[in-house]
Amino acid sequence: MFPTTIAGSLPKPSWLAEPDRLWAPWRLSGAELAAAKLDATLLAIKLQEDAGLDMVGDGEQSRQHFVHGFLERVAGIDFEHKVEIGIRNNRYKAMVPTVTGALRLDGRVHEPEARHARAHTTRKLKFTLPGPMTIVDTIADQHYGDRVKLAFAFADALNAEARALERDGVDVIQFDEPAFNVYMEDATSWGIEALHRAIDGLSCTTAVHICYGYGIKANLDWKATLGGEWRQYEKIFPALAASRLDQVSVECRNAKAPMSLLSLLEGKDVLVGVIDVASDEVETPEQVAATIEAAMKYVPKQRIVACTNCGMAPMRRDIAQAKLAALGKGAALARARL
Ligand code: ZN
Repeated sequence: MFPTTIAGSLPKPSWLAEPDRLWAPWRLSGAELAAAKLDATLLAIKLQEDAGLDMVGDGEQSRQHFVHGFLERVAGIDFEHKVEIGIRNNRYKAMVPTVTGALRLDGRVHEPEARHARAHTTRKLKFTLPGPMTIVDTIADQHYGDRVKLAFAFADALNAEARALERDGVDVIQFDEPAFNVYMEDATSWGIEALHRAIDGLSCTTAVHICYGYGIKANLDWKATLGGEWRQYEKIFPALAASRLDQVSVECRNAKAPMSLLSLLEGKDVLVGVIDVASDEVETPEQVAATIEAAMKYVPKQRIVACTNCGMAPMRRDIAQAKLAALGKGAALARARL
């Protein structure tokens, strides 16, 4: 009961990348960088194991950003001439590459870190990939001229990598779709279908993560405009409940999305966010257990997985580590009480 996992990313050691920021530049290059990424992957797994987490991941130590890490191995994208676009409905600006030709996965993306992680943990291994709709929202396009066609082209590339990750021994593949909370109508009209394309043929557990973003200023400012009650999930959960995905990862701790909306995810495992990644205040095990217990009113207890609200990439390392410990201890506390 109440197994534990993380949404995806962990902060990187300062010898690997500049700390405390998103899109942090690497501190090494070439073969040294490749080796350092694997060393950091090992550390990330060890920290999760020591915190008592049941499903561990690579902490996304090998990618600079959760979207562009994947894109770097997709042919048909021009990375040389980045352009500035507004992403997540203009919530913030980002320098992004441009799709200039037909997309095709050029070899493997995450093979080294997936295999390294698999070789060094006996726990269940989770791996994250960006979702097609979120990719489409984080790139410029001069070739397809249609967001849906572009999303399905990316879904094919994602599917090829996902199938290979499954062969590497990955137990859970999660697609990150923060854009679902921004474009709710698109999410239900084609976003979930694009995810179905991405998970086609997989027999491992599949998940989708939908959140209100990292704890960076642009997101905090955006959340402040959403009013006293966030009801975005209400528009997409019924379609997700009807989808072929196994798990849905959502933000709960300190979120203004009503917990009662979780009842719309009937039949799915719910990764309940019990750790706020937008605050440096470390949760107590008591608070973690309380969030799990609040979720139990709306989700059968055997379907609850305790998780973080989102990735922890831009956080301070010591704080992220303390939050991992709180996650493990809080879930244990909730288990003991029941
Ligand atoms: Zn997230």
